[in-house]
Amino acid sequence: MKSFWSFENRYWITGKLRAKTALSVGSRASLMPAGSDLPVIKTPEGLPFIPGSSLKGAVRAYVERLARTLEELGKQINGSHIKACDPLDEDKRCITSQQKEKIAEENKPENEFTAALWERSCTVCRLFGSPWLASRVSFQDAMLSNGDSLVRLTEVRDGVGIDRDLGTARTGIKFDFETVPPGAEFALRIVLENVEDWEVGLLLVALEALGQGQLALGGKTTRGLGWMEFADLQVQGLSAKDLLDYLAGQAMPSLPPARFRQALLEGLK
Ligand SMILES: [Zn+2]
Repeated sequence: MKSFWSFENRYWITGKLRAKTALSVGSRASLMPAGSDLPVIKTPEGLPFIPGSSLKGAVRAYVERLARTLEELGKQINGSHIKACDPLDEDKRCITSQQKEKIAEENKPENEFTAALWERSCTVCRLFGSPWLASRVSFQDAMLSNGDSLVRLTEVRDGVGIDRDLGTARTGIKFDFETVPPGAEFALRIVLENVEDWEVGLLLVALEALGQGQLALGGKTTRGLGWMEFADLQVQGLSAKDLLDYLAGQAMPSLPPARFRQALLEGLK
């Protein structure tokens, strides 16, 4: 397992998240918890952004699906299980509250307790975190990065009510909604700490799949709104042995994404 107490490495994944279709803008009040319904919201100055927690929720859900598929195929990664629990259902978590109490009883010293929690946690909780394990990946808020080249940052549209069950327009229901126009770009920035190369690979595979038309944000996707693509995915990183060079002012090394995908493919057995 990775050490929780020392610096081993840190990676940054950066890229652009580009709106292929208009994105609906929600308000802070309508901000959903992590899930598939992800509004763009605005800063108090009126700048649209996509909350990091929403992006993390969407990417985590995709990684869970990927991990379940690998589990069904009987795959392991570097001799370790591949599993994904259901973090939204307390009873289906890899470690329930009750189990956590039991593990605490049986593993008194703090380091043994942490090791036992790690051992029992699924692949996805190990990377994205759980109530008992700190996340090793964090998603920053994706701010609009090309506001200068957009005619306007947002526009208000007329909506006609759509019957969710029938998919037909219901007459007489009209409302306005705000959108960010197609072509808007948001700066993606993800930080990973003390991770294995294959875990970076897993995240890159998920981001690339999501960027190929499988990621929709904003809750009006049945109207064709909210489809995103990723561009310019880049990885930079620092391991413990590079740390002194970096602190001495050396540039952050840029790393080929293929290296991480390769580590994932080679680790799968
Ligand atoms: Zn889990």
